[in-house]
Amino acid sequence: MTHRPRKALVIGAGIAGPVTAILLKKAGFDVAVYEAWPYSTGIGGGLQIAPNGMRVLAEVGLAGELIQGGSVCESIDFYSQSGSPLGSINRNMEKRFGLPSVSMRRAMLNEAIVDKAWSCCVEMHFEKRLVRIEDRPDQAIVAHFADGSSAEGDFMIGADGVHSAVRSHVAPDGPMPSDTGLVGFGGFVPRALLEAAGTRPSLAMTFGRSGFFGYGFCAPDAHGAMCWSSQPTHDIDAATFRAMDQAALKRHLKRFHAGWHDPIPQLIDALEEIIVTPTLDVATLPNWSRGRTLLIGDAAHATSPHAGQGASIALEDAYRLVRTLQDEPDIGIAFQNFERERRPRAERLVALARRNGNQKKEFSRTAAWIRDHMIKLMLPLNARGQDWIYGYDVREVRTPPQTSGQRYRKAA
Ligand SMILES: Cc1cc2nc3c(=O)[nH]c(=O)nc-3n(C[C@H](O)[C@H](O)[C@H](O)COP(=O)(O)OP(=O)(O)OC[C@H]3O[C@@H](n4cnc5c(N)ncnc54)[C@H](O)[C@@H]3O)c2cc1C
Repeated sequence: MTHRPRKALVIGAGIAGPVTAILLKKAGFDVAVYEAWPYSTGIGGGLQIAPNGMRVLAEVGLAGELIQGGSVCESIDFYSQSGSPLGSINRNMEKRFGLPSVSMRRAMLNEAIVDKAWSCCVEMHFEKRLVRIEDRPDQAIVAHFADGSSAEGDFMIGADGVHSAVRSHVAPDGPMPSDTGLVGFGGFVPRALLEAAGTRPSLAMTFGRSGFFGYGFCAPDAHGAMCWSSQPTHDIDAATFRAMDQAALKRHLKRFHAGWHDPIPQLIDALEEIIVTPTLDVATLPNWSRGRTLLIGDAAHATSPHAGQGASIALEDAYRLVRTLQDEPDIGIAFQNFERERRPRAERLVALARRNGNQKKEFSRTAAWIRDHMIKLMLPLNARGQDWIYGYDVREVRTPPQTSGQRYRKAA
């Protein structure tokens, strides 16, 4: 008797979705990815993938290409608003963790992942916005799309990001994403500006009395530098900023960061296209799966960007999910095993990012002085304090054993 491979419907072609699909395909599953938007290139700002995420990209054969097209980050250097150095972290990442932290354009990452999915013969469907899920006993699970079409499979993976539609099926009474009270502005600038300022291949991060500014290299080409600002919302949300034209956004940034150390004013002057993002997170959901549907990546545990880990843990999810499905043929149990293993790490990182973000809010002069001195004091003492993040190796992790309660629920 021949068995047909089980079919996965993956919703979302951001970071976690296509990587999960590639790994599922390699593991012998049939898989199709459905993305709400048309296929497009050149979208989004910059981001950094840490060694723990790079390990997964290495597993799908993309690490070399992304290191070449991005910029290896040799440290993160902190400064006060006036430019006094406060210390550095994340030195020697490649030596310590086997792979470097790599800054890159989000567009390059997304395009490389989608190209790899195509070359692995993953079915990729664009302009398919999921609107409804039907999961009836003894029938295929069905994804319904906004254009009236539908698709059937054996199970579904919701990799559809912070505003996940799959989440409202899995956890209908769960919390909505929370606004963390900060708004982000980002874009690209010419490399020459950072080179002229003597910037090392690192990320420079400056804490102000109100808000934060970061910059660094992200690609070898002439426009391969990125910068971003995080600011308390002060009752003006991201949607209001998004409605402004580029000249008004630039005026706002210049006003907000007036008097900050060089090269921040020059970088703002040179910003090409400013992207505005709200800063949202989802601290915890009551459950990550329901029936034959599971959430991964930001859909399960959206994190604000202040720990630089959202994409890396979405990649970890992709790898661990496929291994879990290989180890446990029952989909429901495999989903519970996955959630039990992944939830503590993911939620710890979401909470850490929220705490880091709080350092970018409003401070009195004295409080900012104390914060800066605390950073200076604590950084050397905490040199290995983040090893639990970067040293995590998805390939070494084993699924924790089931509890008898879980076995009993399954049997019932
Ligand atoms: C400004 C900013 C900077 C960041 N910087 C970093 C960083 O430096 N390092 C880092 O690790 N992380 C960073 N992050 C976080 C990171 O971007 C996310 O954690 C990561 O993209 C999550 O991947 P994902 O695949 O789960 O979701 P996404 O990448 O958001 O992908 C979700 C996909 O699902 C699609 N979709 C949504 N709804 C539907 C639907 N109904 N039907 C079909 N498709 C749908 C979306 O269009 C999208 O393509 C940053 C985030 C922001 C906002």
